[in-house]
Amino acid sequence: MRELSSAPRVALVARDLRLLPKAHLHLHFTGSMSPDTLTELAADQGMRLPETLRETVAGDPLRLPANERGWFRFQRMYDAARAVVRSEATMRRIVREAAAADAAEGSRRLELQVDPTSYAPFVGGITPALEIITDEAASASAATGVEVGIIVACSRMRHPLEARTLARLAARHADDGPGGVMGFGLSNDERRGETSDFAAAFHIAARADLALVPHGGELLGPGHAAQVVAHLHPDRLGHGVRVGEDPALLERVVADGIAFEVCPASNVSLGVYATPEQVPLRRLAEAGATIALGADDPLLFGSRLLAQYEAARSVHGFADDALADLARGSIRASRAGAGSKATMLADVDRWLAAPDPGSGAGEHPGTA
Ligand SMILES: [Zn+2]
Repeated sequence: MRELSSAPRVALVARDLRLLPKAHLHLHFTGSMSPDTLTELAADQGMRLPETLRETVAGDPLRLPANERGWFRFQRMYDAARAVVRSEATMRRIVREAAAADAAEGSRRLELQVDPTSYAPFVGGITPALEIITDEAASASAATGVEVGIIVACSRMRHPLEARTLARLAARHADDGPGGVMGFGLSNDERRGETSDFAAAFHIAARADLALVPHGGELLGPGHAAQVVAHLHPDRLGHGVRVGEDPALLERVVADGIAFEVCPASNVSLGVYATPEQVPLRRLAEAGATIALGADDPLLFGSRLLAQYEAARSVHGFADDALADLARGSIRASRAGAGSKATMLADVDRWLAAPDPGSGAGEHPGTA
């Protein structure tokens, strides 16, 4: 347990969080789209988006109950958004725009999750679907300066044998370089499927030295997160926020060095917590957890990466040194190379060492 310093209640001028170097480790391919891109792609193809989806992306972020019904509505909207992605050009555009949006918010490293199964029918199979994404991720890395790595994610809604097929595909494309597959995930409704059934797929991924990043401890409580830890041996937990409900488990997960990909806006949209204040960010940080803030599905949750850091400051009262710690956590928990990590961490130190414009020590309007 360690005490975090708090930000002053009113900080009119503060260090610019956009300039804080960070890594973005929890972002889904379709969910990364901007509302404008979705609307444009639908119009180009003469597709009519469901009204609920149109309202959501028009600025009315989701507020769903945390039950199967809520998840079903989320899934239907996600499926409707995914239905506009039917060509190589669109797939490339989504990767390119995700990297550009991250670059604009000070992200230096993006690990983007995708289940290539959904796009395979339009591009001649699952292998071309993945290779289009890895190829564009390499180009986007060069174009934006954001290192983009790819996480192949299997789904709890599909047969565990499909997960093994995806793990083998991911293993064949394992590559730490720009655009390479560096991780393996498990997504979709945590209440579905038997976690232990996916252990074989995760074993294949582990043998290929991929980062293991299943979702867990979000829709279900610490009991299920413990199963994910026991059966899938994660390097990071997608969300993991509800691990905090069991102090002994939290202590163990922290001691094991398993990082938390915390996505505050997502938690509130999906009803895991009723208000932003209830997201246990401070509890996890004070327990010494390595935390990487993420946007999850900005298309549906209405905010991107930077907004999660802003919420840590404004909602949870994190002072700049604690915000720098969050950024360091994201960088350390990423699969960036040692050299990249050292550079990013040094730049975090530099961000923190710069005068705080709100302290009166730096130059800001009002200082002669
Ligand atoms: Zn997710």
